[in-house]
Amino acid sequence: MSRDIFQEEHIIFRDAFGKFLDKEITPYFEQWEQDGIVPRNVWNKMGRNGFLCPWVEEEYGGAGAGYEYSVIINEEIFYRGFTGIVTPLHSDIIVPYIHSFGNEEQKKKWLPGCVNGEIITAIAMTEPGAGSDLAALRTTAVKDGDEYIINGQKTFISIGILSDLVIVAVKTDPGVGSKGISLICVEDGTPGFTRGRNLEKMGWHSQDTAELIFEECRVPAANLLGEEGQGFYYMMQKLQGERLVAAIMAQSMAEAMLDMTVQYCKEREIFRKPLSSFQHNTFKIVEMATEIELGRTFVDSLIKDFIAGKDIVKKVSMAKAWVSEMANRVAYHCVQLHGGYGYMEEYPICRFARDVRIIPIFAGTTEVMKVIVGRMMGL
Ligand SMILES: Cc1cc2nc3c(=O)[nH]c(=O)nc-3n(C[C@H](O)[C@H](O)[C@H](O)COP(=O)(O)OP(=O)(O)OC[C@H]3O[C@@H](n4cnc5c(N)ncnc54)[C@H](O)[C@@H]3O)c2cc1C
Repeated sequence: MSRDIFQEEHIIFRDAFGKFLDKEITPYFEQWEQDGIVPRNVWNKMGRNGFLCPWVEEEYGGAGAGYEYSVIINEEIFYRGFTGIVTPLHSDIIVPYIHSFGNEEQKKKWLPGCVNGEIITAIAMTEPGAGSDLAALRTTAVKDGDEYIINGQKTFISIGILSDLVIVAVKTDPGVGSKGISLICVEDGTPGFTRGRNLEKMGWHSQDTAELIFEECRVPAANLLGEEGQGFYYMMQKLQGERLVAAIMAQSMAEAMLDMTVQYCKEREIFRKPLSSFQHNTFKIVEMATEIELGRTFVDSLIKDFIAGKDIVKKVSMAKAWVSEMANRVAYHCVQLHGGYGYMEEYPICRFARDVRIIPIFAGTTEVMKVIVGRMMGL
């Protein structure tokens, strides 16, 4: 499918980035899956080569590139199923908080490191008692002179082990619900900030997802992002970008799963015929290909709207829900078409099917997406 989002320079960049991944990631990825983490120097290499936050302006160390480049990086990583290389979370979800809500001093302090890979970021919203219901979060930050004292616990935090800078959602005014939420940046090494377990997950084995603990953790008041009490509003504002990133991931994984399955079904023979030639299987593949085309059209239209600065909250919530569920339908059928081989680790469909399962859950569940869309439809 030709895609009018991309020009010649983007195609050249895609080719170069693909070659980088094939050289620097492909040979080692299975080992990192076993290790439960990717080495820090992967981030440094990504940064040095301009593959982190390419959109950040030159004055903060970036390339000032268009969102198209972020899309390409996300697509190439997730088409290969490199779920541990979750740099789009850093580049296109977390760092934009610093860029949009940080003051000049904070931007100068942190953005160059975010671009060159020396500062890896995480965002800590979820708590054991607050996931979909973010307003229920209980981590507190109490002002004490020119410091905040943070107490609480976060869970399921992506890049929780490797991160150098964590944007933590806290209650600075616990009495007023979502209006009392603020965002505070906590740097690695701050006394009172410790990491809990690197959690064992169904998939994304090389991506460190961790618990974070804050006990009498004193942070300079200057680390507050934006204004006190605006955190919930900031998160709602940024979640549309987060949902677009998730939809792009799911779409890329669906495309990869179909491609590997078509190839497998053409090569594998049963009853002296290729698997793909049985009408039932042909129909199944065609149905998946149709859904994937629909997803691609929808996602590309949202990428264009996002680049144009349009409000995409309603449609991106639809896309996050539909595309991630579609990718999981594709995963189910692709494993089935592989037969027993689809259940074997040596076939990539096995890992893809496991890894794609999280996308309807994180960045807002399918059900939460439907609640948002339902509200916007006045239901
Ligand atoms: C691998 C992984 C990485 C993650 N990374 C991060 C991260 O970096 N930072 C971070 O802050 N969080 C992260 N999360 C947390 C993630 O965003 C939450 O898991 C998610 O928002 C759901 O919250 P929950 O797990 O508490 O489920 P719950 O909120 O307990 O939901 C349970 C079920 O109830 C459903 N539900 C919720 N509300 C409604 C409703 N109104 N109507 C009907 N059903 C509803 C949900 O859809 C779900 O099916 C991550 C999670 C995972 C697993």
